[in-house]
Amino acid sequence: MNAMASSCDRRTAALSVTNGGTLSMIVGIDLGTTNSLIGVYRDQGSVLFPNSLGSVLTPSAISLDEDGAVLVGQAARDRLVTHPGRSVATFKRWMGSPRETTLGARKFRPEELSALVLRSLIMDAEAALGSKVVEAVISVPAYFSDAQRKATRTAGTLAGIKVERLINEPTAAALAYGLQKRTGSGKFLVFDLGGGTFDVSIIELFEGVVEVHASAGDNFLGGEDFLELLVSACAKDLGLDLAVLTPGELAQLRQRLERAKREISPARPARVVFTAAGTAQTWTCDEDRFAVLAEPLVQRMRAPLERAVRDAKLDPSSLDEIVMVGGASRMPVAARLVAGMFGRLPLRHVNPDEAIALGAAVAAGMKARDARLDEVILTDVCPYTLGTEVAKRNPDGTPRFGFYHPIIQRNSAVPISREDTFWPTTDDQTEMSVDVYQGEHPMVAKNIKLGEISVPLPKVKDRAQKGVTVRFTYDINGILQVNVKVDTTGEQRELVLQQNPGLLTNEEIKARLAALADIKVHPREKQENLALIARAERLYEEYLDARDSLQSYILTFRAVLDSQDDRAVARSRRELIEALDAVERA
Ligand code: AMP
Repeated sequence: MNAMASSCDRRTAALSVTNGGTLSMIVGIDLGTTNSLIGVYRDQGSVLFPNSLGSVLTPSAISLDEDGAVLVGQAARDRLVTHPGRSVATFKRWMGSPRETTLGARKFRPEELSALVLRSLIMDAEAALGSKVVEAVISVPAYFSDAQRKATRTAGTLAGIKVERLINEPTAAALAYGLQKRTGSGKFLVFDLGGGTFDVSIIELFEGVVEVHASAGDNFLGGEDFLELLVSACAKDLGLDLAVLTPGELAQLRQRLERAKREISPARPARVVFTAAGTAQTWTCDEDRFAVLAEPLVQRMRAPLERAVRDAKLDPSSLDEIVMVGGASRMPVAARLVAGMFGRLPLRHVNPDEAIALGAAVAAGMKARDARLDEVILTDVCPYTLGTEVAKRNPDGTPRFGFYHPIIQRNSAVPISREDTFWPTTDDQTEMSVDVYQGEHPMVAKNIKLGEISVPLPKVKDRAQKGVTVRFTYDINGILQVNVKVDTTGEQRELVLQQNPGLLTNEEIKARLAALADIKVHPREKQENLALIARAERLYEEYLDARDSLQSYILTFRAVLDSQDDRAVARSRRELIEALDAVERA
C-alpha cells in the first residue's frame, strides 16, 4: 500500500545492546535532504560527532569513483560538478519510490544511497566512540508516508544497523528544545525551513505523550529559493546575462550571494563584489530590498502555517511555543513572518542545523533507558486521509459515481479505528464493492486507489435491508485493515493493505545487502585527502583562469600522497587548502 503514517514502536525504553562484550550506544541520526548528522546522548546532553573533515554536517551526497569505491559527503558534493554522471544528491526526495540512479556502471535505489550515507556517519561515530554502533534512532519528516518510512528502515538494514525507531523530525526538534521536560501539557509549532523544503508541524505534549497533531509543508520551498531570488535580482539590476558568465564566474557569484544572504541584517546591507564576463562588478542589497524580493516566498510560507493550525483545530494564541529549525530559519524574514502571524517571538537558541539530530540523540538516549531522561511516549499521525468511493444522487434520482468519502481523516493520531455505514445504490444489487482510497480530493479519480473488497448482499429487494458497515483500522505499524460487514446477515470480508508497490521484499533486501557489501567506502583517514582533490577538481572545472596552477597543485598533491609520507602529506594538504582558498577568494 502506498500510504500513510508510521510504523513506529511505542515502547520507549530498551536496554543498550552489547556487542561482542563491548557496550554499544544507540545513536541518533538526522538523515537530511541536504546534510546528515549523527550523535548520542551523554551526561550533559546530546553530542554530535564530526566527520573526517571535522564538520558535524555531512552533505547527503554520494559519488562513485573510477575504482568503484564510494565517496560520501563533501567530496561527493564537489564531484556533482566534476563528475555529474557518477554523483548524486537530494535522493531523500525519492525514498519510498523504486527510482534507480545510475552511477558509473551501477544502479542504486534511494534506500541504498541513504544506506551509504548512514554507513559513513556510523564510521564517524564509531571512530569517536571507540566502539561499535549497531542501533539507531533515525528522524524522518512527519509527512513521510508509510512507504517512505519503510524505505528509511530498509536503508538502516542495508547499512548494517538496527533501526530501533523512527522519530518525526518536529518531535526531535521539540526534544532538542527540552519541551518534554515542561510540566503539564503544551502545544508547540515547529517551523522547519531547510535548503529545499519547508515543513510545519503542530505537536502536543500531554501527560508525557508527544503527538504530532498536524503537519503541512511545501516540498519545493527552501533557502535555495531565496538564493535564486538574489541571483536574478542582481543580474537584473546590473543588466547581466547570466548565460555569458563562465562556470567559474557563475559559481563565484552564487557563492558570494549565498554569503550575502546569510549576512543581510537591518544593521548591515550586503555588498557583493564579483567578476562577470571579465569585468569587476559590485552589487548591494539591504534588508528592506531583501524583504521586498522575498515577499512572494514569504507569502508561500503562510499557507502551510495556516493549514497546520487549521488542521490541528487550534486557536493560534493557544500555542505555548514556536520553535524554528533548519538552516534557512535563521533569515530574519522567517522570524518576522512567524512573529507577525502568531504575535510572539519564536525560540531560536538551538543551532537550527543541528536541532533535529540533537533531538534524535535525545530519543536514542530514551531508547537506551538513560536514567537522566524522563520517559516520554512518542506517537504519530496518519498524514493522509483514507476513505472510500460513494455515489450521490442527481436531482432525477439517478446515481452519480466518483465521490470521495473520508473514513479516517488526515492527521488523526494512530492507531485509529473508524467505521461508517453504506447502502447499495440500487434495490437489486447483489454485491457491494468497497474501493479504498488515500488522498485529499473530493473526487476519487484525483486520489490514490489502494485496493478494493466486495461482500455479497442478501437477496432481498429492499435497499434499506442491505446496509454494510465499513471499518478502517490503521495501526502503528502502518497496516490498514478494512473490514466490511453486512448488518443484517453478519457476513464479513477483510482486506489487509500493507504491501507498498516499489518497496523491497525481504529477499530483495538480502540480495541488495550482498551487492552493497562489495562496494568499498573509502576509509576515514583517506577521505580528507580525497575531499581536497574533489574540491580542487571542482575549482578546475569552474575557474578557467586558474586552470594551469590548479592542475599543477593536483599533480603535486597526488605525488605526495603516493609517497605515503604522513608528515609530507599533512604539510602538502595545508598548502593546498591555502591555495584553493586563494583561488576562491580571487
Ligand atoms: P539545511 O537543509 O537545514 O541544511 O538548510 C540549508 C539552508 O539554510 C541553505 O539554503 C542555506 O543557505 C540556509 N542557511 C544556512 N545558514 C543561514 C543563515 N545564516 N542565513 C540564511 N540562510 C542560511
